[in-house]
Amino acid sequence: MATITFIGLGNMGGPMASNLVRAGHDVTVFDLSKDAVAALVSEGAKTADTAHEAARGAECVITMLPAGQHVEAVYLGDDGLLANLPAGTLVIDSSTIAPETARGVAEEAKARDIPFLDAPVSGGVGGAKAGTLTFICGGAEETFSKAKPILESMGKNIFHAGDHGSGQVAKICNNMMLAILMAGTSEALALGVKNGLDPAVLSEIMKQSSGGNWALNVYNPWPGVMEGVPASRGYEGGFLVNLMNKDLGLAFDNAVKNHAAIPMGSLARNLFELHAGQGNGALDFSSIQRLYRPEDK
Ligand code: NAD
Repeated sequence: MATITFIGLGNMGGPMASNLVRAGHDVTVFDLSKDAVAALVSEGAKTADTAHEAARGAECVITMLPAGQHVEAVYLGDDGLLANLPAGTLVIDSSTIAPETARGVAEEAKARDIPFLDAPVSGGVGGAKAGTLTFICGGAEETFSKAKPILESMGKNIFHAGDHGSGQVAKICNNMMLAILMAGTSEALALGVKNGLDPAVLSEIMKQSSGGNWALNVYNPWPGVMEGVPASRGYEGGFLVNLMNKDLGLAFDNAVKNHAAIPMGSLARNLFELHAGQGNGALDFSSIQRLYRPEDK
């Protein structure tokens, strides 16, 4: 078992840190939210007043933060963790951020002999709670091998996508496809219901047909069709529209840099931005269903 510091206890990081505690690791947590910290402490984690203090003595530091600027603020500069961690500390960032930001942090870590892995996740809050996340890692093979047993306490599928930044590239591609699938699924359900079909019956038909996809299988966007998903609790919790827009923005920026065409991703981005602009940014991303069904408010 390892001595682990976990920073960023939000919708994802909270349950991920819980699973590390449950697996028997010696876990110290830190978050700007006192409530988030208190919840983990009640489950057996330790805490400290600052991220630096929390990281003292850690064999491994894991971060799960909203976006690139938070990751840079925590790790870089004279006040950052990298400048203060001993060489050899394993550092894993599971936030979804731009590949070049991950590479920048990796470079700074390398200069200090700190093995760094970008390890964004897929599987949502449900996967974080169940410990079944998919980790998509970028970094050296040796670092990946060291991190794998720790990641296995929080996930089921642990992939090594390639060198630094590759985990983020794969994650961005996946989330762009997820946004396209969720918008497409919502559109198809709304069309069927306009024609008088029962959304549950239509969902089951499409699930068993060629339109079957992850949204239909485990994250149905139509309220009341599936229990335990955000659509059945007013789209509260889950993966926020604002975070999906961040990821679609990362895909768009990356596509521009690489002269890659992403017409479907760009359209999905427009739809989710429109939806956020209508005051839905803090809802789960499956609430895109409401764009096709504005009467459901
Ligand atoms: P969240 O906003 O719920 O949690 C982020 C946490 O980080 C908050 O508790 C916040 O207080 C904390 N934080 C911010 N700055 C901090 C700092 N400087 N020091 C300490 N704590 C700080 O976000 P989330 O939904 O948990 O997502 C985290 C990351 O995981 C994002 O990059 C997101 O894109 C990605 N992700 C989310 C999901 C999902 O379903 N929610 C799925 C896969 C990936």
